[in-house]
Amino acid sequence: MFFASLRIRLNLLIALILVGGFLATNIISYQVSKGTLRTSILDHELPLSSNNVYSEIQRDLLQPIFVSSQMATNSFLRDWVLEGEREPERMTRYLLGIRDKYNAFTSYFISAKTNRYYHFTGPSRVVSESDPADGWFFRARDLKEPYEVNVDTNVEQGSTITIFINYRVLDYGGNFIGIAGVGLGLDSVGKTIAAYQKSFRRSIYFIEDNGQIRLHSNDVSKGADNIHALEGIGSLADELLSKERGSYTYERGGETFLLTTRYLPELKWHLLIELSERQATAGLRRSFLYNIGIGTVVIIITMLLIGYTIGLFQARLEEMATTDKLTGLGNRQVFESGMRQAMARYRRTQEPFSLIMIDLDNFKRINDTHGHVVGDRVIKKFADLAGGLVRETDIICRWGGEEFVILAPACTRDDALLLAEKIRTAAGQAIFVAANPEYRLTLSAGITQAEDRDSEDTVLVRADKALYQAKEKGRNCCVVD
Ligand code: GH3
Ligand code: MG
Ligand code: MG
Repeated sequence: MFFASLRIRLNLLIALILVGGFLATNIISYQVSKGTLRTSILDHELPLSSNNVYSEIQRDLLQPIFVSSQMATNSFLRDWVLEGEREPERMTRYLLGIRDKYNAFTSYFISAKTNRYYHFTGPSRVVSESDPADGWFFRARDLKEPYEVNVDTNVEQGSTITIFINYRVLDYGGNFIGIAGVGLGLDSVGKTIAAYQKSFRRSIYFIEDNGQIRLHSNDVSKGADNIHALEGIGSLADELLSKERGSYTYERGGETFLLTTRYLPELKWHLLIELSERQATAGLRRSFLYNIGIGTVVIIITMLLIGYTIGLFQARLEEMATTDKLTGLGNRQVFESGMRQAMARYRRTQEPFSLIMIDLDNFKRINDTHGHVVGDRVIKKFADLAGGLVRETDIICRWGGEEFVILAPACTRDDALLLAEKIRTAAGQAIFVAANPEYRLTLSAGITQAEDRDSEDTVLVRADKALYQAKEKGRNCCVVD
């Protein structure tokens, strides 16, 4: 009982230490890695993505700006305007040529003198200062810079971004005479955005200064066209719109998101790149789960091994605690528990049981003549001999020294006497000392049968008394009490 509960407690403690230690190290390392990953995403990865998108945009802008600047300094165009804008079809042809050559979405020229809007498709119209749709022309007219970039999303063509480069055209004396330019799709930017969305699961937003979403790569903004109205980003909107660059973390729909922002001066837009932390840490979570799985297997194997080892040692200890080392018979402890059980059974069933106490005669002499080692061998040999003669159900123990006790269940005193005599006779015939084959081992035995008034002690005392009587009678005999 004591061993069993100790064993359970020990096993539980070891399991607790293993599981606790293992979980603690794994969780801590997962959290640390997650923190490191988050920092690296916010400090490096997302800004790098945003640099990439920005350089795509800058690259895409190069050509239309170049084409528009060519148009603004084209001598045909300037001469044609200065000569009074005669034969408009010549301008149309020129614009068409530009459009086709550069695969532009559109090409145009607006004259400052006549306010005429010439277009590659042909007929011109007059822009009006009072029409808000034409406002850009009058804005560009007063620009200090040579050109402005005007961006629009083209809803009809799958929300592609279209940029208009409005280049100021000056005459040979430096006077403003109109605006020329082309409109082009930001194709590679669109592709980059789609690739980011697909491969890296990053959402990209282009936001105006007032928070208006001009372009986005996923459906998050559905129903909201201003980031102020978006869950999570909304509360940060004012702060991020006021900064050139920034990194943010926020919750949306129970998920954590990481965000970097960057202002794109060419487009006057803010570029926002957003990444779900759950997606970013998916790999980490997977390896965490693998670790937990492997750890569980290791812990189970360890626990099984520990259980097996403890069991083995326990069995060995129990054997050592109950077995007499010299003879391999049970010791006094085994006898005592056997005696308790036998008495209990006797009281319940009244089935007779007997006790035989044996003491080898004149053993001192053996030791004196042949030495202790031979004495030990004699004791061992006698134990083997007696052990071979008793029944399977009998309990034979070494009581101490050269004394033995046999507990014989379902055995009357007469049967016990027969058994004792059998042992005495067999011992008397055997050769115990090889160096002295003439030597005969004799023994004395006291026999008694349990009775109703007996306790464990009184049975023993009676058997002992009978043994004493056998010695008194001159040894080499059995006495029944
Ligand atoms: P008796 O006939 O009266 O029993 O004479 P005895 O010499 O056997 O005397 P007693 O039983 O009083 O003493 C037992 C002796 O047996 C004492 C001791 O020297 C010897 N003896 C006891 N245990 C061992 C043992 O484990 N090994 C050996 N070699 N001798 C033992
Ligand atoms: Mg003795
Ligand atoms: Mg003796």
